[in-house]
Amino acid sequence: MNGDRPALHVAVIGGGIIGACTALELAGRGHRVTLVEPGTPGGPQSASYGNGAFLSPASVIPMSFPGIWRKVPGFLLDRDGPLSIAPRALPRLAPWLLRFLLAGATQDRFRRTAGAIHALIHDAPARHLALAARIGRPDLVSQDGLLYAFPDRAAFAAEAMSWDLRRELGLHWEEVEGEALRALEPGLSPRYRFGVLLGAGAQCHDPGAYVAAIVAQAGTLGARRLAAEATGFALSGGRLAAVETTAGPLACDRAVIAAGIRSAALARRLGETVPLESERGYHVEIEAPSLRLARPVMPSDGKMANTMVAGRFRASGQVELSSTAAPPNWHRAEVLLRHLARTYPGLEIPAAGIRRWQGHRPSTPDGLPVIAAARRVEGVVHAFGHGHIGLNAAPATAEMAADLAEGRPPRIDPAPYRAARFRPWRPVSLAPPEAADDRR
Ligand SMILES: Cc1cc2nc3c(=O)[nH]c(=O)nc-3n(C[C@H](O)[C@H](O)[C@H](O)COP(=O)(O)OP(=O)(O)OC[C@H]3O[C@@H](n4cnc5c(N)ncnc54)[C@H](O)[C@@H]3O)c2cc1C
Repeated sequence: MNGDRPALHVAVIGGGIIGACTALELAGRGHRVTLVEPGTPGGPQSASYGNGAFLSPASVIPMSFPGIWRKVPGFLLDRDGPLSIAPRALPRLAPWLLRFLLAGATQDRFRRTAGAIHALIHDAPARHLALAARIGRPDLVSQDGLLYAFPDRAAFAAEAMSWDLRRELGLHWEEVEGEALRALEPGLSPRYRFGVLLGAGAQCHDPGAYVAAIVAQAGTLGARRLAAEATGFALSGGRLAAVETTAGPLACDRAVIAAGIRSAALARRLGETVPLESERGYHVEIEAPSLRLARPVMPSDGKMANTMVAGRFRASGQVELSSTAAPPNWHRAEVLLRHLARTYPGLEIPAAGIRRWQGHRPSTPDGLPVIAAARRVEGVVHAFGHGHIGLNAAPATAEMAADLAEGRPPRIDPAPYRAARFRPWRPVSLAPPEAADDRR
């Protein structure tokens, strides 16, 4: 029993950070949980394995912002930029791209989206510190601040729209220049003369191990793992009866779809169309690096997250719009390596032994996840589409998904994350969420 409510059997589909946190949250509330995941939870098949490990309340700025359309030709032509679009994928991507451009076309939409991201991540460092302690791995999360590095103050000022909005949302930071910046991060190239130190920022020290530890903790509370792939759903009178899996049907009361980039295909089986594309990302890692960072760094020009992960020097970033099925384009990893060499002159880039990884950010065009009860079937909850903020937003998402599975209203207003905002005939929600007639 969970308070006055009977315990439910909940199938959580997907063992990335969202599924792991949701499984733990539900098991902690006394429910019977089965985590359906064909791979190792937090393994390299998941975005949750290879991310930048930033737990930053400043990650509120959506990818689509007013004026971004002017940059699209550059994205198509610049082979070494932080964002690239594969020309041959353009016809298939066009509807998603149109929604993406419209999502940030006005200040109003841009700011509304940032506010909805803020609601999910403003307390992410505190939530993750508590979570790491709860799973007995306090070593996996620490709050030593995050450093955003710029060539000079003018480069920072060029991003005023984003930083002003962060300030309005209540974020504080310290500006550091010249020698003070050098003292904070001696390895940074002298090219960087201005920095923003976000004291509230935290980091995860090994995102893959973190997911595995969360799942292990859920296991100690009775959660079971099913090493299988979910393939669909069996319904009875409009209600969920079972999750179909490659290991046979799994009878359950509720299911949470948290399968990252594969989630939209599962949601489609329930009649829900969510435009979800992979923003393909990459990382490179140097083992036994000649230089270590005191805290994570994001250089403004490279648009990459530089973090020490399990003793390795990781650079992660790049947004590549192509297709999920296409093989990795390791040129993107080379771009990260070149940025690394320019950013940290003292960092030796070995000729061999660099670890390279490619993964899929599960991205909606407006940069907000879908956290909502399924509309056409009772008993299914969507918890996917976290794009760039999945690690940050996982504890808040898990709490919301568990509330929705239990049928109670989440503490965070769920309106901005409803699937109904993507209507086939309406690329983005034009009405403020309060005016929506169909939120679930
Ligand atoms: C390069 C890069 C850098 C990033 N940096 C950051 C960062 O610094 N901070 C941050 O907050 N976020 C960051 N992100 C984003 C973050 O990693 C993702 O948003 C997050 O990992 C998504 O988690 P998820 O659980 O939804 O999906 P995933 O981690 O992809 O997990 C989905 C899981 O579902 C399983 N699955 C798929 N299909 C099925 C099925 N049919 N049945 C059962 N299981 C299935 C998969 O095997 C997988 O294990 C970054 C992402 C990338 C790629």
